[in-house]
Order: sequence, then structure tokens, then C-alpha cells
Amino acid sequence: MIYMDNAATTRTAPEVVQAMLPYFSQYYGNPSAVYSMGSANKKAINEARRTIAAILGAGQEEIYFTAGGSEADNWALKAAAEAYCGKGKHIITTKIEHHAVLHTCQYLEKKGFEVTYLDVDQDGLVSLEELKAAVRPDTILISIMFANNEIGTIEPVSEIGAIAKEHGILFHTDAVQAFGQLPIHVDECNIDMLSASGHKFNGPKGVGFLYIRKGVKIRSLLHGGAQERNRRAGTENVPGIVGLGAAAARAAGTMEERAAKERGIRDYLIGRIESEIPYCRLNGHRKKRLPGNVNFSFRFIEGESLLIMLDMKGICGSSGSACTSGALDPSHVLLAVGLPPEEAHGSVRLSLSEENTMEEADIVVEELKRIVAKLRGMSPLYEDFLKRNQNG
Ligand SMILES: *Cc1c(COP(=O)(O)O)cnc(C)c1O
Repeated sequence: MIYMDNAATTRTAPEVVQAMLPYFSQYYGNPSAVYSMGSANKKAINEARRTIAAILGAGQEEIYFTAGGSEADNWALKAAAEAYCGKGKHIITTKIEHHAVLHTCQYLEKKGFEVTYLDVDQDGLVSLEELKAAVRPDTILISIMFANNEIGTIEPVSEIGAIAKEHGILFHTDAVQAFGQLPIHVDECNIDMLSASGHKFNGPKGVGFLYIRKGVKIRSLLHGGAQERNRRAGTENVPGIVGLGAAAARAAGTMEERAAKERGIRDYLIGRIESEIPYCRLNGHRKKRLPGNVNFSFRFIEGESLLIMLDMKGICGSSGSACTSGALDPSHVLLAVGLPPEEAHGSVRLSLSEENTMEEADIVVEELKRIVAKLRGMSPLYEDFLKRNQNG
């Protein structure tokens, strides 16, 4: 099997699993208990908190554990909206956010908030001028992702943070794709809130965190016990949090070499696909791009068919269509960068990890060439296109 869907989820690293194991049936005490098996677990949780805080240049009291990236995004947006609605009801975000942000914004619109969805250019970059122009006296929150999960484009986060700070507006960033892949410093980028998720950097699924800058007024997400400084009730997911901390330490420690390796394979894949498969388009920014992201549109074919045929060869990727209510919708991200719906439907994302190899890249390119040619051979659109071309 060749696994190139690491933007969807990653393999939990064996050393992360090892770190988690004792916390299931050996150290199972409730972290809030007074006996030592409980307080030892509280220590393990706080060690994970310190590890993550250090990576971000944050204080450990600014890290709040959640059940993943979607929960962190929901919390940041809903709770900030509630806490700051006395100041205003306007939120700025972009058209290319993850659905955890976009659908939360739509929910807030129903609750009386106004949301500006910024356009992006053909590479997926937000315009700082358009951001500045969108700021109003009643703007309370800017939520712009650190890097996009589909096309890999890295946004100008420190410039966005500077604009937010200048206007006294909270800045939240969905860094689920960036944490563990790119260096992030919350002070340098003026980030007030940041979401991340364990399973995107070789940690366990269903656990993540929200960084909340000290002094930011934010409401509790879940009400109940006093866990997470009263802000997120519920007995802690101790094995998950320990795994999250171990994965964060591992990701930070290996970041440079992993990124260099992935970039090498990424650029090799991009180079070969562009030169060997006609009528394709690279999606996302060429340089400001996540190390492991490759995203192409192939004209005259369906990405879903391509994926199924890749799967028959043991290759895992993902397509630029999302299955919503049984129908295939073209990706909102690819539409936002200006692709016509039919080209968005012909898109495939390959997202790498450090486990991928050049040999795998070669196999994937050969299969892509063969499958794209085969699918085009069956496409009436392609036949028409060739005829029109022949007739000049
Ligand atoms: C995966 C992802 C999420 C959701 O994270 P979960 O932990 O799966 O809930 C949010 N934002 C981005 C950019 C993602 O890639």
C-alpha cells in the first residue's frame, strides 16, 4: 500500500502508542483524585501541556485540551462571539476555511452575527488589502487558517496578526495542518487563539488543543467539572493527551528533516506530473506551500474515478469533491481559487509523510499517467476537445 492521504489523517507513530499504553490499564486513576495514581496522571497531563506550550512560545496555562481540531475551532468561534458580542457582531474569515470554521460561521450568522468571507487569489492567498478593507468598528474576530488542508497554501499569518492587533481585534487561526509541520510562534504572529489536532501529526485521533492567549475573554465550552481551568469540563482523556504531547514533541524534534524529505518528494511529483501528463493544473501556491501537499486538476476526468482506480493499485489519495447528502459537490476551496466546477471535480490531492519514498512517487506517477489516459479515452468531453483541436 502507498499511503498519500496524510492531510486527512496520519499513522499514530509507534513511540506515541508506546507512550500512551500505560495510561489505559496501569495508570487509570482520575486526574482530579487526591491519591497518588490520580495526581500522577495530572502531572502527565501538565507535562503534555508544557511540551505543547514550549513549541508555540506560549505559557502552559494557555493550552486547553479538546477532542480534536473541529472542537477547538467551534470553541474559539462560538465562545469568542459570545464573550465579545457586546463590542460588536462582525467576524471576518475566508472562503477556503475548513468546514469546522465555515459551518460554525454559518451557525453564528443564524444567531445574528455578520460574517465577511474573504476571497483568495488563484493561488489561495488572502489579500491583506482586502482584509484591511473588511475591518469595521464592530469587528470582533478574524479567523484565518494557517495553511489550507486541500491545496497546501500557507497564509501570511504574521501580517494578518499585525493587522488584527493594530485594530484591537481577536485573531484565531486554524493551524491543524500547520502545527508540527511549520514553525509557529504565537507572539511573533500575534495569534490570540490557535487550533490543532493530534491525528494530523502522528498522534491519536479525537484529541487536540486550543491555545487561548492569557487575557482573552472566552466562555466555557462544556459546563461541569473544573477541568481545563473551568473552561472545558469532563474527565480528561489521559492516554490521548499523553499521546498528543508525545506526538508534538516528536513532530517538533523531527520537523526540519521531515519537511526537507517531503519537499523533495513533493517537488519531484509536481515536476513529473506537470511534464508527463497533459492538460493538468497544479492547485495552490508553488512556494508558500505545505511540505507534503500535491494537488492537481486533470481536465476531462472525474477525480473520484481516478481515486477508485488508484485504490485498486493500493494507492490512497483524496479528491477535490466532498460527498454531501449523497451527491458529489466540488470543493469550496477549488471553486474559491477560480476553478470551474468540472475542473474542481477532476482534482486529486496527494499528501505526504516522511514515510513516503521516491520509489513510491515513481509508481504513483506511472499509475496516474495510465489511469488519466484510460479515463480520458472513455470521456466524450475529451473526444470533442480533440476533434475541435484537429479542426483548428
Ligand atoms: C482535519 C482538519 C480539521 C478537523 O480536525 P479534527 O481533529 O479531525 O476534528 C480542522 N481544520 C483543518 C484545516 C483540518 O485539516
